[in-house]
Amino acid sequence: MSQDLASPAVTKAPGTAPVLVVGAGPVGLVAAAALADANIPVVIFEAERDLPDGLRASTFHPPTLDMLDRFGLSSILIEQGLICPEWQFRDRRDGPVATFDLSLLEGETAHPYRLQCEQWRLTRLLRDRLATNPDVRFVYDARAVDTKQDENGAELTIERPDGSRETFAGSWIIGADGARSAVRKSVGIEFAGQTIPELYLTCSTTFQYQDVMPDLTNIAYISDPTEWFVLLRTTKLWRLLLPTDPNEPEDVMLSDKRIQSRMQEVLPKAGDYEICHRTAYRVHERVAAKYVAGRVLLAGDAAHVNNPLGGMGMNGGIHDAFNLAEKLTKVWNGADPALLGRYERQRRKVALDVVQQQALRNRATLNQRDPEVRRASLDDLRATAADPVRHKDYLMRSSMIASLRALDEVA
Ligand SMILES: Cc1cc2nc3c(=O)[nH]c(=O)nc-3n(C[C@H](O)[C@H](O)[C@H](O)COP(=O)(O)OP(=O)(O)OC[C@H]3O[C@@H](n4cnc5c(N)ncnc54)[C@H](O)[C@@H]3O)c2cc1C
Repeated sequence: MSQDLASPAVTKAPGTAPVLVVGAGPVGLVAAAALADANIPVVIFEAERDLPDGLRASTFHPPTLDMLDRFGLSSILIEQGLICPEWQFRDRRDGPVATFDLSLLEGETAHPYRLQCEQWRLTRLLRDRLATNPDVRFVYDARAVDTKQDENGAELTIERPDGSRETFAGSWIIGADGARSAVRKSVGIEFAGQTIPELYLTCSTTFQYQDVMPDLTNIAYISDPTEWFVLLRTTKLWRLLLPTDPNEPEDVMLSDKRIQSRMQEVLPKAGDYEICHRTAYRVHERVAAKYVAGRVLLAGDAAHVNNPLGGMGMNGGIHDAFNLAEKLTKVWNGADPALLGRYERQRRKVALDVVQQQALRNRATLNQRDPEVRRASLDDLRATAADPVRHKDYLMRSSMIASLRALDEVA
């Protein structure tokens, strides 16, 4: 098999060979479910022994729930999650600055709210749904290490935990294998951008912040020139996200003593906090130079990563997966593979022009140190929330509805 990135000579889908989906995260499994629903055989490769269940994204935006309705999953996620009709920016000392009311989106979406629900709940629901389809196969303990392709098909080589390797043949490969994507690396696609200097520490606690912080909404971004933070409520726990010095040794950063002291700084209280989970991670802002390299297609974190402020990483990835699956289904059924170029143009533009920009703006609002710039930025948020037209416009953008509607304009 040869690989020619400059001019991938894809002619047509070969008919019956399955689509090889690498990564059983939310993006890979949504793409797999949409393809399987179109009667396309799929093999899903996951590096881990089981679906990862770490503490990661927890926000579902309205259009993502609208899309997941197609699989009948939104109502189940809603049962398992927490409906949040409002979210806010706060000043750490002075309290609420701007509270945004998603009920203004009624008529634009069937779900005029953000849903707080852990991403592992979605992946489990998708796996259960896919497991009933005889044309779908899961391969666990299968770390993708290489891809090859020619005009007729693609091959994926995986490595097992014991070091042995196996190669699978397919028609297309979807690289949904996360930020460090081996699939992306196998086709040499550049992943340019920047690394945010601070680490993000996330911990969850049973402490009920809403009982002691006046007017706190379930999602709150708390601005401060010295130490900003984010509070996110799920059904039983609150999650706290704090920027963290990357030079602090990890065993100190994640120790009980250090986390207790940081939580006490955020909100002093008698006695220790009960801490349920903790994790620290490095955050990047990067977009792949291409999403399509012949028969190899990238989606989700494999194609773009951004800071989590605004909850757009997983949501944007799921929007990629639906867009890609729709076009790949058409190609599978005989459409010109050039159609996949439109997937790249549409979704890459959203990643560059919308998601990255909004995530960077959110971070700048939270950590602004210059008092004048900070005051102007918070005043602008206040004025936005106070004006019904600007308020709704802001919600259309922050809920990712506007970016989906703008896709039609991309040729
Ligand atoms: C620690 C952490 C915390 C996060 N917290 C937040 C948050 O609070 N809010 C937010 O909005 N976003 C958060 N994110 C980002 C969010 O989780 C991602 O945007 C989202 O998971 C993207 O989904 P995905 O399916 O593209 O990738 P992933 O969820 O990363 O899934 C990729 C899958 O591929 C598998 N895989 C990896 N390499 C290979 C390989 N070579 N072969 C086969 N399988 C492979 C992985 O095991 C995984 O199952 C966080 C990310 C991390 C890493």
